[in-house]
Amino acid sequence: MECGKSFTIEDILKADGVPRCSCGGIIKPDVVLYEEGLDQNTIAKSIDAISKADVLIISGTTLVVQPAASFINYYRGNKMILINLSEVPNEERIDYVVHCKAGDVFGKMLLDLNKKFEEI
Ligand SMILES: [Zn+2]
Repeated sequence: MECGKSFTIEDILKADGVPRCSCGGIIKPDVVLYEEGLDQNTIAKSIDAISKADVLIISGTTLVVQPAASFINYYRGNKMILINLSEVPNEERIDYVVHCKAGDVFGKMLLDLNKKFEEI
């Protein structure tokens, strides 16, 4: 969190207690945690990609945490797919909703894709 240096998962697993960099800074995952701000360049790239997407798959979210929840408003297609265990507000705005664990769906998709590639 101080110098921006990257680490592998092995480095993190070797740490005793809170993982720290040689500069003394705490090592945290390169993801946005609750109450952290989003990088403006990342937001712009995300909105651009969503606005050009043919299919939009949303998973593991109830679409209530902003600003990420509002990103789906930039989607222009008619193939918006939500995969989430629980219901989300205003589901009628989504073209296709699957109520189950995202990991189960993506795990099955990976198995199916692996089989397909083995057949080729
Ligand atoms: Zn450091």
